[in-house]
Amino acid sequence: MPDNHLQFDCLIIGSGIAGLFLALKLAPHGTVALVTKKSSAESNTNYAQGGIAAVMSPDDSFEMHVRDTLAAGAGLCKEEVVRAIVEEGPARVAELMELGIRFSQRESPGGATELDLGREGGHSRRRILHAQDVTGRELERALLAAAEKQPGIRIFEDHIAIDLITTHKLGQTGPNRCLGAYVLEKGTGQVKVFAAKATGLATGGCGKVYLHTSNPDIATGDGVAMAYRAGVPVANMEFMQFHPTCLYHPKAKSFLISEAVRGEGGVLKTRAGGEFMDHYHPLKSLAPRDIVARAIDSEMKRSGAEHVYLDITSKPAPFIIHRFPNIYQTCLQFGIDITKEPIPVVPAAHYQCGGVVTTVDGETEVAGLYAVGEAACTGLHGANRLASNSLLEAVVCAHRAAQRLRLQTAPPLAAAIPPWQSGNAHNPDEMVVVSHLWEEIRRLMWDYVGIVRTDRRLQRALNRIANLQAEIQEYYWDFIVSAELLELRNIALVAELIVRCAMQRPESRGLHCNLDHPNADPAWAQRDTVLRKSSLGA
Ligand SMILES: Cc1cc2nc3c(=O)[nH]c(=O)nc-3n(C[C@H](O)[C@H](O)[C@H](O)COP(=O)(O)OP(=O)(O)OC[C@H]3O[C@@H](n4cnc5c(N)ncnc54)[C@H](O)[C@@H]3O)c2cc1C
Repeated sequence: MPDNHLQFDCLIIGSGIAGLFLALKLAPHGTVALVTKKSSAESNTNYAQGGIAAVMSPDDSFEMHVRDTLAAGAGLCKEEVVRAIVEEGPARVAELMELGIRFSQRESPGGATELDLGREGGHSRRRILHAQDVTGRELERALLAAAEKQPGIRIFEDHIAIDLITTHKLGQTGPNRCLGAYVLEKGTGQVKVFAAKATGLATGGCGKVYLHTSNPDIATGDGVAMAYRAGVPVANMEFMQFHPTCLYHPKAKSFLISEAVRGEGGVLKTRAGGEFMDHYHPLKSLAPRDIVARAIDSEMKRSGAEHVYLDITSKPAPFIIHRFPNIYQTCLQFGIDITKEPIPVVPAAHYQCGGVVTTVDGETEVAGLYAVGEAACTGLHGANRLASNSLLEAVVCAHRAAQRLRLQTAPPLAAAIPPWQSGNAHNPDEMVVVSHLWEEIRRLMWDYVGIVRTDRRLQRALNRIANLQAEIQEYYWDFIVSAELLELRNIALVAELIVRCAMQRPESRGLHCNLDHPNADPAWAQRDTVLRKSSLGA
């Protein structure tokens, strides 16, 4: 076998919570390759602040968690999926603790130590397990440490998956099956074949499609783009959750002010200091995220202000510093003392509710291909994700996918996967062109396909994206591939999928708000917007 042809029982793409949990579950049963495009901790997971939702207290119940999730999802969640994920939450949380994750604790009124359960918008009970305000960092630390101890797991950092390899792509007939992926080693420029009996996409979301985002640079929707190109259905991409409160500061790239700040008493205010959320929702500042984001957008448009404020100064300074050490320190670096003054905030693209269509066990329509975590669309979130349900979904679905994978006996791998073919010219202008096109797509999506949409703006966005894609394709075929070009190609495709899903839905529901169709249409409840490549012949 040539050097650049590697073979494993399972290939996992992505080292966030979903990929790592899946790898840990599979390691005792076979060889696992975990490829990740930057350093292994760099993921959306690493930046999660609020925590993971699970029913852990006697005054809470599965029924209440299910009800809150369904209410946020605005008529589009799959109730059986919601139930399965909510009910398995406590068992998966217990496993996370066994793996060494240290969730914050507090002293109970009786003097014993208990989990410090937080409350977030849309939750009717305190049920958020957190590690102060750096939950994601703690998850990555412990999961990576556990993965490194497993001899069956090989982690390939700075390896970016380009495309999935399927039997149909190789021209074979019969049902489509995934055989692995082509992966670019960024340091050497070599494209390797990773062949595997099963492939797990755990590539996270696509916040970088938008100009303002809470997501780190890895979030370019690669998994969704790869799956779509491989003929796997993708659904509900119009439901992009905009987090209402990202720090507004010229030097703060994408720093999130967690919803937990509002959960602990933070109040949204205009520049003049007036509270405004009581005009929009009875839960005021603790209303669901979409309502808060639209309210802020509307206040900003009405007043012409570039941001609003989030004020937690009513709480004692020691409480703020202990509960939100990361937010406190980061804001202080930008000259804002949150114990004494309100925090300037704006909404930003945050979470992709749609994605690769899967069952609750992570199975896609293509045999041997699984998707878990933010890359997948299981039906849990519907038209809007309830805060802190995404980390929960990632661990529950990774666990279920691992069980499913172990039960299946995959056929032996097709012997001959051809090596990667690409253009062989270097393009001296590439970086400037790539960064220009990248900016253009992100601004276009922000302006035309943002928090509030119209039919005309969506059509305009689609036309422009088609032109940009034609230009990108030319580069893609003629020149040697680079990580930047691959990501650009993916964000352009994901932008197109978001717009096409949005155009399919002639109503406003959950996160999708279209001024030309301002109301929810009962005929569209429980209907997903599904796109698949073959149906267009594209
Ligand atoms: C600032 C912030 C705060 C959040 N807070 C919370 C919270 O409190 N609670 C909650 O439930 N959710 C929260 N979320 C959402 C949650 O963090 C994510 O949905 C979740 O972590 C996604 O996990 P994942 O494993 O699916 O993907 P990620 O953690 O994003 O991991 C994706 C991985 O895939 C890799 N990758 C991507 N493309 C490729 C490719 N082509 N080749 C190789 N590797 C690739 C990336 O490098 C990365 O390792 C937050 C998100 C952000 C951005």
